[in-house]
Amino acid sequence: MLYSHTDVVPAEHDKWVHHPFEAHLDSDGRIYARGSQDMKCVGLQYLEAVRRLKGWGFQPKRNVYVLFAPDEEIGGHDGAEKFSLSEVFRGLNVGIVLDEGLASPDEHYRAFYAERSPWWLVIKAVGAPGHGSKLYDNSAMENLLKSIEIIRRYRASQFDLIKAGLKADGDVVSINMAFLKAGTPSPTTGYVMNLQPSEAEAGFDIRVPPTADTESLERRIAEEWAPSWRNMSFRVSN
Ligand SMILES: [Zn+2]
Repeated sequence: MLYSHTDVVPAEHDKWVHHPFEAHLDSDGRIYARGSQDMKCVGLQYLEAVRRLKGWGFQPKRNVYVLFAPDEEIGGHDGAEKFSLSEVFRGLNVGIVLDEGLASPDEHYRAFYAERSPWWLVIKAVGAPGHGSKLYDNSAMENLLKSIEIIRRYRASQFDLIKAGLKADGDVVSINMAFLKAGTPSPTTGYVMNLQPSEAEAGFDIRVPPTADTESLERRIAEEWAPSWRNMSFRVSN
């Protein structure tokens, strides 16, 4: 079974040299399109390989199935997951699945045999609201900022392993902040400036390789990144 997904992550149109959904082909043969790398280049290689093999009269020993699935970027629950639980899938008696890899910048095709799993972490700090002119301990913003600083240091330690050539991209725990949510909205100026808000939240996209010690990562989240003694809570989804 040759699997690929057809969904893509969102695009900010105005940051693109070419429109992200027009699949612009430049004179060097580069295609500019959202998802052209992740992962339509792979899906098309599957089809092209099948087309050429058929052209050469190649007869595989077993059936080859080509699967295009939706919603991989948001967990695959309505696509690959439902399909993998279906009678249809069972009936195919699949022996091996090739799924996602990275686009290769040169002529070499690299094989990957493991995939990191996404942990989408949201941490939340709560605290007493306070006047913006006073210095308090334990405000929601302060506690969230402490966590962000700790998470940033962990992120840097993982990134340093890649930069030093000790580990490949897929072998470290990657963490990127996806959102920050805090502040008291004001109808006139956007946010109230002289108030320390009572809640602050941040979201992170974490990717965990199969070799990672997941228990220690869970402990790290509970004890260092969102400790209840700092009035913090967290949730993880994937
Ligand atoms: Zn992908």
